[in-house]
Amino acid sequence: MEVKECTTCGANLEAEDSFVIFPCPDCGEEKIARCERCKKIGNEYECDNCGFTGP
Ligand SMILES: [Zn+2]
Ligand SMILES: [Zn+2]
Repeated sequence: MEVKECTTCGANLEAEDSFVIFPCPDCGEEKIARCERCKKIGNEYECDNCGFTGP
């Protein structure tokens, strides 16, 4: 499944200049996406699969 929204704030990543997508550090199965804004301010994300939260 392709990630199209920021996991944290739900922003449409296709409209973002810069964002990161990485596998969940805990379960490795869910993809976490973060837009530049959330990265900068250190918004927490939560994995939909295992509930892991991280900065
Ligand atoms: Zn965001
Ligand atoms: Zn996970």
